[in-house]
Amino acid sequence: MLDENNQEEIFVDCDKTGVIYHNWQEDKIKTLELAQSYARLEDDDRATKCVECGTYLDFYYDLETGVHKLRRANFCKQPLCPMCIKRKQKKIYGQMSKIMNVLSDDYAFVFLTLTQKNVSGEDLADEIDNLMNGWKRLVNRN
Ligand SMILES: [Zn+2]
Repeated sequence: MLDENNQEEIFVDCDKTGVIYHNWQEDKIKTLELAQSYARLEDDDRATKCVECGTYLDFYYDLETGVHKLRRANFCKQPLCPMCIKRKQKKIYGQMSKIMNVLSDDYAFVFLTLTQKNVSGEDLADEIDNLMNGWKRLVNRN
C-alpha cells in the first residue's frame, strides 16, 4: 500500500490509541546484521533466509474497524533471528496469558528461582530429591 508520498506504507504495531507495542524496524535491522554474520561464515542459505525474513506480509483488512491482521508471511524461523524470536516470544506470552487468566480464579502464582551448586551426574538424582523435599517442606509450612 502506498502513502500520500507514493512510498510504501510502513505498518506500525500499535493499538487503537496509537500506543506502539513493538518497533519491528529495529528487529529487521538486527536480522540484516545477523544475515551479514551468516554471509561472513559463508552460510549463504541462512543469510538469504534472514535477508528475506518478513519481506512478504499478507494482511486481512477489516473495512469496518480498520484493523489489519496478519494472514500470511515469509518468516525465516531461524533460531537466532531477532524478528522471529520476538514473534515467538509474543505468541508464547499470549498463550501463557490466556492460561494464567483462567487459572488465576483458583490459584495464586509465585515467581520462584531455585539455584543450587553444580553436582556430578551420579549425585544429580539425590540432589533433585533433596531440593524437591525442601520445597515441599517450605510449601507445607505456609
Ligand atoms: Zn526471521
